[in-house]
Parts: sequence; structure tokens; C-alpha cells
Amino acid sequence: MRIEPKMQDPEVRINNFEEVNLGYTDEEAIAEAQRCRLCGACVKGCPVGIDIPAFVNSIAKGKFRQAIDIIRQFSVLPAVCGRVCPQENQCEKECILSRKGEPINIGALERFVADKFSEKETFDIPKVGKSAGIIGSGPAGLTAAYELRKAGFDVTIYESLHAPGGVLRYGIPNFRLPDKIIDKEVDYLLSLGVKLQLNFLIGKTVYINELLEIHDGLLIATGAGLPSRLNIPGENGVGVYLANEFLTRINLMHAYEFPIYHTPIKKFSKVVVVGGGNVAMDSARVARRLGADVTIVYRREEEDMPARREERIHAKEEGINFITLANPVEIILDEYKNVKQIKLEKMKVSGKGLDGRNKIEGTLEYFTIDADAVITAIGQTPNRIIQENVKGLNFDSHGRVIVDENLKTSLNRVWAAGDIVTGAATVILAMGEAKRAAADMIKTL
Ligand code: FAD
Ligand code: SF4
Repeated sequence: MRIEPKMQDPEVRINNFEEVNLGYTDEEAIAEAQRCRLCGACVKGCPVGIDIPAFVNSIAKGKFRQAIDIIRQFSVLPAVCGRVCPQENQCEKECILSRKGEPINIGALERFVADKFSEKETFDIPKVGKSAGIIGSGPAGLTAAYELRKAGFDVTIYESLHAPGGVLRYGIPNFRLPDKIIDKEVDYLLSLGVKLQLNFLIGKTVYINELLEIHDGLLIATGAGLPSRLNIPGENGVGVYLANEFLTRINLMHAYEFPIYHTPIKKFSKVVVVGGGNVAMDSARVARRLGADVTIVYRREEEDMPARREERIHAKEEGINFITLANPVEIILDEYKNVKQIKLEKMKVSGKGLDGRNKIEGTLEYFTIDADAVITAIGQTPNRIIQENVKGLNFDSHGRVIVDENLKTSLNRVWAAGDIVTGAATVILAMGEAKRAAADMIKTL
């Protein structure tokens, strides 16, 4: 039987920001790994191509060091991916044991070995006399930096925020991905000689053409951090948050530890979160930990929610209510413009869309929920600071940078990868594309 790691008790964890998933013991990891048939079917589900059977087999034999060395040949962020990848739609979906509903717990095993070792593989870095600038320190930027550095490039990452990690740092809460895990992975990159310039907003602090004077090649990996809006009446009321702003306050600025940290956050008693993705789940679970009653409203059915299955389960265990087939039409404000209620239209399913998800339509029936805060988490697009400050860079109407099959942009010596190219996606997809871009940079430069 598939072995699930132990979790913090829901009653306890709603009062803290400590990690929910407590991970495997050695014995649990070995027992889970020994279920593996070593067939390799799972590998095609991994966007960075990790040799999964090889590392799982090493764990099964108790050779933990060997297991992490195998993973590191393919990924610089195993402790992150073991925690946040949607394995159920990737490697675990392809696992032959998933037919019986019990795929190998690949994510938990990856996390287990990644956490076991703080010292990392060292290797000789060749000197090639080339330099690369990476714009953005999210999973795409960190992955490309690793690949380029291993190939001997001098690498500098430019990051606009005061801490590296991108969404890993400012979006995903500590109870899913602790800061110390991101620090550990970034420290490793820095120990290889990668340089990191924080508080450096490309397109304002310096422009792309200035960076091209000091680097042989550039990778744009600036993500999709611009939240979409509902565009309904009341959205500018007091107590309406965009999820990214709310989560940044908590995760990056540690508002939940006010006054030790200086960023405050207002205490709300009834919070409605709009959306069905990881961002919505994270916002809801943070609001719950701040003491609120929380309801998630989603316009489709629960099976259509893009959030990781584990996040949905954890949210429910933590007492978060789900209302599906409901679409916000107005945020009702009181005389002081504070949020008072949210008005929703009931939706109904009207067949299947081309993407296989249920199509929905409005019913013209409405209901309201009391709330003193509304957090909107309905998607993000790239911000356009870079795109609008450089001539000759082609991007589409959503602000996504247009690239060729090798991730090369319309600008000479400039590549792009991650959410800035695909739109909001996943950590591992951003990493996979960044690896491809780095490979082409190495070949071309
Ligand atoms: P990002 O992670 O967005 O990093 C981009 C970096 O570039 C940022 O640090 C930004 O500050 C910096 N930057 C932007 N503009 C500039 C500039 N002009 N100059 C310098 N620096 C700049 N995916 C999963 O797989 N699993 C999950 O559980 C999951 N949960 C998520 C939860 C939340 C709240 C959010 C928002 C996303 C989540 N995702 C999850 C999606 C995933 O995090 C992203 O797909 C991934 O981080 C994209 O990586 P990236 O490197 O392209 O961009
Ligand atoms: Fe092991 Fe499943 Fe991968 Fe086969 S598909 S190697 S059983 S994890």
C-alpha cells in the first residue's frame, strides 16, 4: 500500500505557519521505494527528465547519497519540487501502479532525500570566458543559472525583490515550502560562483541593452506576477485584496509575525477567496491561519479546480468551505466602502469544452455571502516592465514574450523561459523550459 507521510494535525496547524507535511522516516521511505517496479514509465511525465527508477531504487537499497546525486544531475531544486510539484498530473500519473490507484509517492521520496543532505555534489567548473545575465530568480532563472554555470559561464542573476526565489518565496507560504528550503537551494548555486544582484529591477534600474553590453547572452525569466482582476463593482473597496499582494505581505514581508516584522495585516473574521488554483488555496489557508472563517468560491466544479489535489484536501481538513458553480458579480460595500457581502451568480454545467473541462453558463439566479474581506485569485499575466522598455522584443497581447523553438526571442543574444513565455504555469514546467533555453545559450554562445 502507498505510504503517505505524516501531517500536522489540522486543529493544530491552523494556528501556526510550520510545515504541514512532516516527511518520511528512513524506514517509511525505504518501504515506499521498495514497491517500485523499476519499469521507468514515470520518466516521461517529468518535464526535467529525472531518472526516477534509478533514484527510487537507490532509496530502496538505503543508498540515500546516491539517490540525491542522481536527482541533482537533472534538477537543482529537488527539495522544492518534492514539495510543490503536481506529481498527480505528471510522473505519478504515468506510474504503472497508478492504474491500481497507488502510484509510488515520487514527490515524497524526492523531498526525503533532498532534505537529508545539506552538502552538495561538487564538480570542476570549466573556464569558457563567457558571461550570462539572468533576469529573475524564480525556478526558471535558478535552473538556467545552474546549467550555465556548470558549463563554465560567469552567471549573474538580477532580481527586483530583496530576496531570491520568485513565487517560491513571495507566493507559496512557509507551511508548504519553508524559506529555509529555498535558502538552502539558492546557497548551493551561490557556492558554485553564481552572482546574485537583489533589488535590481531590469527596465527601471538598468535596461536590457545596457545588460547586453556586459553579458554575452541574457535570459528573461521574469514570470507572470501581474494579477488579473474581476472587473466587477466594488472591487476597489476596503478589504479587497489581490492574492499576490495578500500572499506577498505574509510570505515575503512576514506580516503574520507583526510586530517582530514591520508589515501589518488587518485581522478579518469572514473571508471569501475567489478562484480554484494553488493561489486560491494558499490564500485561503493563510487567511484561516490568521483566524478567519474562510469560503472559497469557484465558478466551475471542484473536479475542474487546477489546484494540486493535496492542497484541496488540506484546505478542507482545515475547515475551509467550498462553494462551486458560483461566479462573483458584485462586491457589496458599506457606507465607509468596507466589504460587507459578495454577490454571486449560480452557474450550471452546459457540456464539455475542448480542453475536457466542463463548460459553464450563468443561470441569472443570485445569492450573497457575508464577508469582511475578499481575496481574488483568478490568474496572473506577465508584467510588462521589460517588454515596454526595450525595442525589438516581440510579445503577444497577454504580455508573454514570443520565442522560437529554442526559446530564443526576437532580440539578438536574448532568450526567455518560464511563466513569461507560457503564462502562469508550474514550477517544473518553468524549470524544464529554462533547461532547454540554457542548452541553446550554451550551444549558440
Ligand atoms: P517566478 O517564480 O514568477 O519568478 C520571476 C522572478 O522575476 C520574480 O522573483 C520576480 O520578482 C522577478 N522579476 C520580475 N520582473 C523583473 C524585472 N523587471 N527585473 C528583475 N527581476 C524581475 N506551481 C507548482 O508547480 N506548484 C505549486 O504548488 C504552485 N503554487 C503556487 C502558488 C502561488 C501563490 C503562485 C503565485 C504560483 C504557484 N505555482 C505553483 C506556479 C509557479 O510558482 C510558477 O509557475 C513558477 O514560479 C514560475 O517560475 P518563473 O521562474 O517563470 O517565475
Ligand atoms: Fe517505479 Fe512507478 Fe516509475 Fe515504474 S512508473 S519506475 S513503478 S515509480
